Amino acid sequence: MLTKEIKDKLIQRAKDAWVRAYAPYSHYSVGSAVLTESGEIFDGVNVENAVYPLGVCGERVAIFKAVSEGHRSFQAIAVVTRNAGTPCGSCRQVMAEFGTDMIVLVANTAGELIQEYTVADLLPDSFGEADLQ
Ligand code: ZN
Repeated sequence: MLTKEIKDKLIQRAKDAWVRAYAPYSHYSVGSAVLTESGEIFDGVNVENAVYPLGVCGERVAIFKAVSEGHRSFQAIAVVTRNAGTPCGSCRQVMAEFGTDMIVLVANTAGELIQEYTVADLLPDSFGEADLQ
C-alpha cells in the first residue's frame, strides 16, 4: 500500500523530470518516475529523434534506468504530462514484464493525481514470460 506521501513524492519526481523532456517534434513532454521495491526512485523523460521511430517514452527511460542499475521489482510508476495522458501500449507491455501489480499514477503538470491504475488494469491478459514456455 502506497501512502499519499509516497505517491506525492513520486509524482513530484516525475514532474521535476518533465521539464527535461526532449520533445522538439511532438511538443508532448513526458516525465516519469519509478519506485523500486527497495524504495529507490529513478526518473525518466521522453527522448525524441528526427528519425521519429527512434524516440523513446519517459516511462521506459525510467524503467530502463532502474533495470540497468540492478532493479527488477517495482512498486509504482508515476507519469506526468500536461493533460494526464495514460501510458502507451509499448510502455504498458514493458511495465508488465516486471509485474502486473505495479501501481501506475497518472498526473498532470500541476502535480494532481488524476487516475490510479495497476498495470493489469491497463493491459489485461498481457503476453509474458509464461507464454513462451
Ligand atoms: Zn510509451
